[in-house]
Amino acid sequence: MTGFVEKPGPAQVPGLVHLHTGKVRDLYRNQDGNLVMVASDRLSAYDWVLPTEIPDKGRILTRLSLWWFEQLTDMLPNHVLSTEVPAGAPADWEGRTMICRSLRMVPVECVARGYLAGSGLAEYEESRTVCGLALPDGLENGSELPGSIFTPATKAAVGEHDENVAYEEVAREVGPETAAELRQATLAAYDRGREIARERGIILADTKFEFGWDETGDEPVLTLADEVLTPDSSRFWPAEQWQPGRSQPSFDKQYVRDWLTSAASGWDRTSEQPPPALPAEVVEATRARYIEAYERLTGVPWS
Ligand code: ATP
Ligand code: MG
Repeated sequence: MTGFVEKPGPAQVPGLVHLHTGKVRDLYRNQDGNLVMVASDRLSAYDWVLPTEIPDKGRILTRLSLWWFEQLTDMLPNHVLSTEVPAGAPADWEGRTMICRSLRMVPVECVARGYLAGSGLAEYEESRTVCGLALPDGLENGSELPGSIFTPATKAAVGEHDENVAYEEVAREVGPETAAELRQATLAAYDRGREIARERGIILADTKFEFGWDETGDEPVLTLADEVLTPDSSRFWPAEQWQPGRSQPSFDKQYVRDWLTSAASGWDRTSEQPPPALPAEVVEATRARYIEAYERLTGVPWS
């Protein structure tokens, strides 16, 4: 369950209806019925949205997501319509706004994994499976899997953690044809992303995609939605530090995690007390990591 130290209120923009404030993004509907997604600079760690923002994080992740949509466009249609800031919106929305086609979302978190970590590791240690898929013995924390696997989760109610489910459960929920389409699209997109990232020194250990049906044409079209292949929806590991048998340093949040759990922060993770504000050097180091991820992947300098 993720908590806000202080939940921000939505912006009041003429013609926009506020729909939802997520951990990181704010959602509105515009007068054309399209979705306006605004990525904030908020950062979550240890089930908290931290009280300190990381300047430009929302812009960096928006640009990265758009870049990935582009890399996948021959493979999958996506929901992006434009990046135009709606009239009357705060100037700060520039670069962090995506206008998207509003889709009928498929209620499945489409996770692909190429490495063992997180809830996959926990299930493996218990039963040698992930989402019911049998895996070989002898894998450790951070091990590369024999191949990429589709490990769907059901979208949890607000504030709850998503729950891993077996493929059969997805097939029951959305029908066998859609389930097969989701699995195929998820694995194809992940494998492409993984390969691109690996060439650039980043291990894309796992990721989550969301899909929806575009019903504007004669036939519904399965369409890639949400954000794609960002550090918020994926595990990014610096390839040069990868070492199975321990938990891998997180590309983006390691400084924050290390500081929060160090004596310097004065914070007790188990206390249920909100985490403190981040010192400037932790903010700067974290921002530099987001920029590094963006630049390594796209090959384009951030500015
Ligand atoms: P969290 O970290 O809690 O997931 P967030 O900042 O990612 O927070 P969400 O709460 O996930 O924000 O808000 C994004 C919501 O928008 C999700 O429910 C997602 O399913 C939905 N969504 C994404 N793309 C579309 C689309 N094209 N049409 C309709 N809904 C969409
Ligand atoms: Mg989300």
